[in-house]
Amino acid sequence: MSDVASPAVASGAAPSVGPVDARREHVVGAPLVEVRGLRKEYPIGGGFLGRARATVHAVAGVDLTIRSGETLGIVGESGCGKSTLGRCILRLTEPTSGAISFAGRDVLALSGAELREMRREMQIVFQDPYASLNPRMRIGAIVAEGIEIHHLARGAAKRRRVEELLEKVGLRPEHYDRYPHEFSGGQRQRVGIARALAVGPRFIVADEPVSALDISIQAQVLNLLRRLQEEMQLAYLFISHDLRVVEHVSHRVAVMYLGKIVEQAPREELYRNPCHPYTRALLSAVPVPDPRHRPERIRLGGDVPSPIHPPSGCAFHPRCPFAEERCRRETPALVEGAAEHAVACHVFPAPAR
Ligand code: ADP
Ligand code: MG
Repeated sequence: MSDVASPAVASGAAPSVGPVDARREHVVGAPLVEVRGLRKEYPIGGGFLGRARATVHAVAGVDLTIRSGETLGIVGESGCGKSTLGRCILRLTEPTSGAISFAGRDVLALSGAELREMRREMQIVFQDPYASLNPRMRIGAIVAEGIEIHHLARGAAKRRRVEELLEKVGLRPEHYDRYPHEFSGGQRQRVGIARALAVGPRFIVADEPVSALDISIQAQVLNLLRRLQEEMQLAYLFISHDLRVVEHVSHRVAVMYLGKIVEQAPREELYRNPCHPYTRALLSAVPVPDPRHRPERIRLGGDVPSPIHPPSGCAFHPRCPFAEERCRRETPALVEGAAEHAVACHVFPAPAR
């Protein structure tokens, strides 16, 4: 999507729907998904009388907005809470607290039939195309499942719809009667995408959708996701541990560390002007083709600390080469500066407005 959206329009202030790039007729529209103060805590180690012995703070207060037709990239090391965030938005995992709205509706207030109806509009594509398809089901039946659950088509019409979906994702109608083991990883991920599209969603959580694929196949699947977004005005929450992958597909990027967003900006701004030492450390691990653009190298020492006992103050301080006394004591708020660039850091704040 590198030439799709000018950042100012992608997440811009104007609520109206307007073309971002006339050449590709791609439109980033009104806010579709809005998340406020989202938290997810997992009690673990059932202690005396079933009381939890400890709490994993997997998502520790996240605010975000995704507009229709827009991709918000979520990036961070393994264990930072990216998958939990995505699953909470779809209510595949119940959040502990916070608010989620989808097209103006309160997602957390929905129950039973309402929630099932909402699931038509919000789908997920998983990381592992080997584990996420039932090996005993034919491809046609896998893709048709949502169509059946939501009574969208029957008999010959259903088969036609599935065959169209297979073609849409670059497979062939004849693949209908095959089994998952007959396909490569990239083809299986196309099946996973067809399954998500079958019910006509407006929003897809793509959780590391290319991380299990060979590099040569990754670009094909990313291009498919991009083409489908343009054709169907899809919004994506695109999760990856890989900043390079996120750069290819996102209009805006949010960097997560231990359950919190520590930096967020339109794509070009984030890669041109990374502020948070964690973002810069992640970028240092990415080969930069343009030497003028090379960020100051920051090496990431150690592992992500445990989300059971997150460090005091700024959770990144034990690994941060710039940490000051204040960073150990006070948790920095995510503050927005110029260019819609928001940073949670005492030492390197967002660019001044
Ligand atoms: P990411 O997708 O960024 O790798 P996850 O959202 O999978 O991170 O996990 C965030 C944290 O929550 C991790 O520390 C993980 O171990 C923990 N976690 C995830 N699911 C559960 C669960 N069901 N029970 C307990 N802890 C969990
Ligand atoms: Mg994950």
